[in-house]
Amino acid sequence: MTSDNKPTVVGALACQRDSFLFKGFETEVVSCNENKSKDKPKYEIELKDTILFPEGGGQPSDSGFLKIVKTDGEDELIPVPFISRKGLHAMHHVDVEIQPGTKVEVIVDELKRVDYMQQHSGQHLLSAILETSDFNAKTVGWSMGGIPTSKKPILEPSDYFNYIEIDRKLSVEDITRASKIVNDIISMKPLPISVVERTPDMQDGVDSSKVPEDYDLEKGILRTIHIGEIDSNPCCGTHLNSTSQIESILILPNQTSVRGTNSRLYFMCGNRVRDYAQQTNEIISTVKSLLSCNESSIDEKITKLKEQVHQSGKREQFWIKELASYETAKIMNSLNKNGKAYLLKDEFGSLEFLLQVFKELSPQLKIFDKPYQIVLCGREGVQTGNPVGSLIILSESGETIANISKKLSALLANMKGGGGKNGGKWQGKITKFTDIEWEALTIHLEKFNTE
Ligand SMILES: [Zn+2]
Repeated sequence: MTSDNKPTVVGALACQRDSFLFKGFETEVVSCNENKSKDKPKYEIELKDTILFPEGGGQPSDSGFLKIVKTDGEDELIPVPFISRKGLHAMHHVDVEIQPGTKVEVIVDELKRVDYMQQHSGQHLLSAILETSDFNAKTVGWSMGGIPTSKKPILEPSDYFNYIEIDRKLSVEDITRASKIVNDIISMKPLPISVVERTPDMQDGVDSSKVPEDYDLEKGILRTIHIGEIDSNPCCGTHLNSTSQIESILILPNQTSVRGTNSRLYFMCGNRVRDYAQQTNEIISTVKSLLSCNESSIDEKITKLKEQVHQSGKREQFWIKELASYETAKIMNSLNKNGKAYLLKDEFGSLEFLLQVFKELSPQLKIFDKPYQIVLCGREGVQTGNPVGSLIILSESGETIANISKKLSALLANMKGGGGKNGGKWQGKITKFTDIEWEALTIHLEKFNTE
């Protein structure tokens, strides 16, 4: 459905002419068409003009609301989660059908827009400074971070970084110097940011190489963004009025190399810098309290802890082997008496320990010339309230193994395992191992050994 009204083209939208219009903007619906694609809201609406920016120029789409003022009841507030650009048209995606001709008031998600403008304007300034003869680093692309997605709805502090891709790697000194210059232009010597609109008859000699292919320049507007006298760049996005509104810029010294000699330089601007500082401070405070140390000792403390863990691991290995030798001797002793033996180890009876016993037993069982029946069982996680177990049954006879595992599975409700059909080793686990089951197993194995 379409009304006779002619919509304003993308390039001359109200949000592009004045990026600080956030609410109270009155206009009307020009067309409302059903959306064909399933993963988007149901309708695409074009307005006569809009203060909601469709994605473009590396700046993501705004979000906001369309308000329909009702004289006979409560006003209707329709969410607009996404605005896209279709050639020269800005399409508002909504779940409600609105008749063409309907008067609406447009409301912008202001916090989000200001954040986007700070990142986007900051990028223009950073790229402009890096392109000067001082640095000679040309920006070939950029990406805005800090946008939650369905895959990652909650962001971590490091997700707030944007990056520019430049055509060479900078030294840490270069980055420190660039950071100082850019922050000076933001805080001490701010410059105005302005927009020049060029209708088709004024576009001669202006670089239009960055304009998207589906944007018809013969009917549209070519916009260039100017930062004082230091930069002019064609761009369709929304921008701040002064570099002072960028507030501050944080540039990371560590870059990543891409596409041969190109490099990604990470930065963030404005409110994000404050949020990042607060959140990383919380993380550092937690780490300091966990390690009981100052910032300067975190490195040292963690290195020490890693060494201790490594040492403990080695010590544990040593004692596992010692204990396994001792238990193996006991088992062989018992086997020599009646061909039966068992081993029960509660709380730290890991599978690793049982396998070490099995490893020590194996060569001795190979030369053992009588029938044998061995049960090795361990339990872990009793203290943490999540007791689980490991179980190994050994015999030269598959039938004996099957008999033993059948009897044990009658005692242990959550026992699973397999192997040893022709004799050898059956191995399994008990995914939940209660105290009552442990006691029942202990009594059963004591009996089994004396039968
Ligand atoms: Zn821009």
